[in-house]
Amino acid sequence: MKLIIFGPPGAGKGTQSEIISKEYKLTQISSGDILRAKKNSDTQIAKLIKFYIDSGSFVPDDLIISIMSDEMKQCDDGYILDGFPRNTYQAKVLDEMLEVKGEKIDSVLCLRVPDEIIVARLSARRTCTVCSRVYHLEYNPPKKENKCDYDGAELYQRADDKEETILERIKIYHTETQPLIDYYQENNLNYCVDGSGDINEIFTIIKRHLNSLALE
Ligand code: AMP
Repeated sequence: MKLIIFGPPGAGKGTQSEIISKEYKLTQISSGDILRAKKNSDTQIAKLIKFYIDSGSFVPDDLIISIMSDEMKQCDDGYILDGFPRNTYQAKVLDEMLEVKGEKIDSVLCLRVPDEIIVARLSARRTCTVCSRVYHLEYNPPKKENKCDYDGAELYQRADDKEETILERIKIYHTETQPLIDYYQENNLNYCVDGSGDINEIFTIIKRHLNSLALE
């Protein structure tokens, strides 16, 4: 199964794709996690990536397409793309890349969350420095203050989770990423889910949809 998940920043893409990847034995390929891992090295590319991420803008299309294409080559069995594609140009290039191999995307999951909930979620979001798992200070706090439940590593607030950057990211989501709903609707691939509720309930809805695809 080849899936895409998208939604505004803080919609729960990472959380849902982690659960989905475990349930369906798919590789989770998160463009944001890959870029964050790359941005800390001492190279010109790393500095460029850091500049774009920290300011809340997109990294250039050609760069992210080349990075994601390398990652996808390593997991032909099935994956969930989390955060890629993020605009219609990236989506078209992805379609072309898959077509060359006679492959296609099976479903595109879109998480919908109102802007005001996103701001509340992201400003209280903390991320593990090692495994990138996310916590919410109020709704999903770590068991031990500021430590990841899984590996005990320090949690941090992403530079792009500061309020002014959040607003910029939401703006870019509406202009650049939201048109993907229409793009994928043309091929009937889109499945939109309300992402503002309980994590397990959202997953139950997604699971019902994915199981129905498997039966087709
Ligand atoms: P995320 O973790 O998905 O919120 O992504 C964090 C940041 O990484 C974004 O705000 C962008 O700067 C960058 N990024 C992630 N995926 C993409 C993409 N497909 N295209 C361009 N920039 C991206």
